[in-house]
Amino acid sequence: MLRRAALNPERTALVFEERELLYSEFADRVRRQAQLLREAGVCVGDRVGYLGFNHPALLETLFAAQTLGAIFVPLNFRLTAEELTFIINDAGIHSLFVDDTLRPVLEPARDNLCCREFFASESEADGWRHLDSERDAAQPITSVVSVDQHDIAVIMYTSGTTGLPKGAMLTHGNLMWNNINASMAFGGTRDNVILTAAPLFHIGGLNVMTLHSFHLGSKLVLLRNFDAVQALENFERYQVTHMFGAPAMYLFMSQQPQFADTDLSSVETLICGAAPVPESLIELYGARGVSFCQGYGLTETAPFSAFLTPEFAVSKLGSAGQAPIFSDTRIVDPDNQPLPAGEKGEICLAGPNIMKGYWNRPDATASAIDSEGWFHSGDIGYLDEDGFLFICDRLKDMVISGGENVYPAEVEGVLYKHDAIAEVAVIGMPDEKWGEAVTAVVALHEGRSLTLEELRAFADPHLARYKLPLRLEIVDALPRNPAGKVLKFVLKEDMSG
Ligand code: AMP
Repeated sequence: MLRRAALNPERTALVFEERELLYSEFADRVRRQAQLLREAGVCVGDRVGYLGFNHPALLETLFAAQTLGAIFVPLNFRLTAEELTFIINDAGIHSLFVDDTLRPVLEPARDNLCCREFFASESEADGWRHLDSERDAAQPITSVVSVDQHDIAVIMYTSGTTGLPKGAMLTHGNLMWNNINASMAFGGTRDNVILTAAPLFHIGGLNVMTLHSFHLGSKLVLLRNFDAVQALENFERYQVTHMFGAPAMYLFMSQQPQFADTDLSSVETLICGAAPVPESLIELYGARGVSFCQGYGLTETAPFSAFLTPEFAVSKLGSAGQAPIFSDTRIVDPDNQPLPAGEKGEICLAGPNIMKGYWNRPDATASAIDSEGWFHSGDIGYLDEDGFLFICDRLKDMVISGGENVYPAEVEGVLYKHDAIAEVAVIGMPDEKWGEAVTAVVALHEGRSLTLEELRAFADPHLARYKLPLRLEIVDALPRNPAGKVLKFVLKEDMSG
């Protein structure tokens, strides 16, 4: 980014709430922010956290941390104080920036947090004031700590099947290789105009197009939050060429009355990930001359490990695409033996985009990345004869609702504390709006009753909103195998029947 600023100081780096920042201005803010962090005592390898909505300050903090050789840790603003406390302490965050609007969420937990410096930033007023007085007084730093491609750039938390989030350590090389693969898949020039409305705390929002934009030296239009109408307005106003989003976002955009009249002629391709793109959506946008580049990947793979470019959208309908040229895919059986084309098994991924491991979790790293370097995705799929990947199911117990991952074990852990509940299993049921709906299947203690509203109110203080059940099903008992494991596939069949 600093190199781009030196090459193109007068080009626009970023647009946020209708205000534009040139590359030279953006770089200056980064250097001042870095000085602020240095004065706070941040050194090489320290973790710098950011809790907030999408905002230029998040990106400034990321680049500032990296100029000092520190590690950036973005935090999901939908989490509760309890969930955030776990992550902040697990990552051992040294300095934490908190968007003013989110300060009340974290305030009750302040005494339990490990961080030494706590900056509350004001990003309300005009969208730009972020620690301005302090930072403007800071002298921009001129030297940049040199980093190796294997050094950790960011730690991104992703929940695990145990219910406790794990920090995926992504290196500078991991992030850069994704950008190189992305450039090859859907082209990239400094004349691109990239719209980011997906949350920057997630790898999809952060790396697919956002960091890519600074890599290209192009213009980034950043939205604080996803808002379908605002996104459509921005397409026209800034002549957007690319956007990354989950299918649900493109669906909401298409459902707006403005959609039919929005000029989409500047769009080169829309990039879609996190879940399969329904055929109806491909057709709807296709009728407007807009194609999708679909991608498959995970936080741990920074993220893309497969792309389906528009030329194959019809001939390979339903596929998540092919491995980009610097990555590999293979399908294995439960004994980790490779399977031939057409056979279903676990999808394993390799390449320079695979994470270094999980932060402070050598056990979890060893079970995710095998001795040959293959990362086990926990997804089930097959490769066809041409090497196109088809995703069929998930080995890991996970629900994707509106593009957000929900780990049933975590939700079940909370719901089990409700005194009316004897047994509970959380599953994902197909849902038109959300892709999958978090569904709690519950057996109650005798004589007790429970409504969905009561259940949601009970879980609300402990779980982020998107993890709360959208449906409640009451059964006499959960189906279990002889070893006592809940048979979730039976539940899913029963519920859909
Ligand atoms: P995350 O770590 O939040 O990026 O979530 C990764 C998971 O999202 C993967 O393991 C898949 O289960 C799911 N996923 C991502 N992309 C796709 C896709 N194109 N089709 C189906 N599932 C996907």
